[in-house]
Amino acid sequence: MPLSPIRAARAVQILAARAALTCGLAHPATRTLLAVAASVAARAWEAGHRVHDVHPAPQLVQKDALVADDLYTRYMKAFQALNAHRAACGTCTDAVTCEAGAPLDERFTRLQDAYRARQSKQR
Ligand SMILES: [Zn+2]
Repeated sequence: MPLSPIRAARAVQILAARAALTCGLAHPATRTLLAVAASVAARAWEAGHRVHDVHPAPQLVQKDALVADDLYTRYMKAFQALNAHRAACGTCTDAVTCEAGAPLDERFTRLQDAYRARQSKQR
């Protein structure tokens, strides 16, 4: 089953970030992955996902916490937990999620879907 546009964008974004960290920005692999990430992000945009779906801004966690946006706070914490796990995990890839990463990925996806559903109701 193909990945949804937003999951594909997240997956390529993570790959590009890993390549940038390990190989550097000038490496051809990094540059190729960044180009693919831009292309996939454009497709996610066309499918209705917005930039904050792929790049939740950490400073927004504090801003929204101040207005007691519990759903958004939980969504951002789930995003941070998943990213922290993936940064440290040697098993998780775009195609494979380890046993410890699976619940983090599921929680993040569920909270993102709930947040996006609420946002679309408010528009
Ligand atoms: Zn993992």
